[in-house]
Amino acid sequence: MKSEQQLNSLALETRRMWGEDGYSPIDIFAIVNGLRDMKITVLKYPLSERISGMCSKVDDDFVICINSSTSYGRQRFTLAHEFYHILYEDIEGQVICNMSMGDDKPDSEREADIFASYLLMPYDALYQISKRNHDTWNLESVIHVEQFYQVSHMAILFRLEKDGFINSESASEFREITVSRFAALLGYGKELYQPSPENKRYFTTGEYIRKVEELANKGVISNGKKEELLLDGYRADIVYNLDEEEGNLND
Ligand SMILES: [Zn+2]
Repeated sequence: MKSEQQLNSLALETRRMWGEDGYSPIDIFAIVNGLRDMKITVLKYPLSERISGMCSKVDDDFVICINSSTSYGRQRFTLAHEFYHILYEDIEGQVICNMSMGDDKPDSEREADIFASYLLMPYDALYQISKRNHDTWNLESVIHVEQFYQVSHMAILFRLEKDGFINSESASEFREITVSRFAALLGYGKELYQPSPENKRYFTTGEYIRKVEELANKGVISNGKKEELLLDGYRADIVYNLDEEEGNLND
């Protein structure tokens, strides 16, 4: 199993590859959807509550499936986790990933969790914050940091405990609260703690959509087939041109 230092270093290397520094929050969905040198399709789908996500590989095409019933913060973590499997492991067929974040998982799963955590929040970023806080963490500072890095409450607590910034008693105490309520009182919205909205529970982005468009443009598939394939990818919004209805603006 790779050490935490190695995984943090790999996470920083990945950030550099994307032109990101080691301290800022990153928009992982925008980055992965925009990676044109890799053929990655991201599918949001309401999977069973035990599963956070899955990924599969066929030739050099990758599909990452994210459980859209989990919170937005957790979905970002899952995307980073799945990205580890497809970028740094030689996966065969399908990998199904468990919701739990503990040490009782196979090495590959633990590595992907640790990588995801460091990718979204590099070690030194949290270390510097902790130093500025005089190494005192309370519920308020935990929520400020999870909001800044857009990660779930469980993901930040797991990490703070693992890196020794908080002890297990504080972690369990902070885990018990209804975080969205406390976050709201600190002036934040609740989106980080909510699942995908109803009209985005089933949704495909990335390579699949680009490929359908390309095949239709080249005349390889008919317009009817293109529409059928887009509907298979839960993109009725493209087929029926719902931009106006959805209130999309260019401003
Ligand atoms: Zn996994």
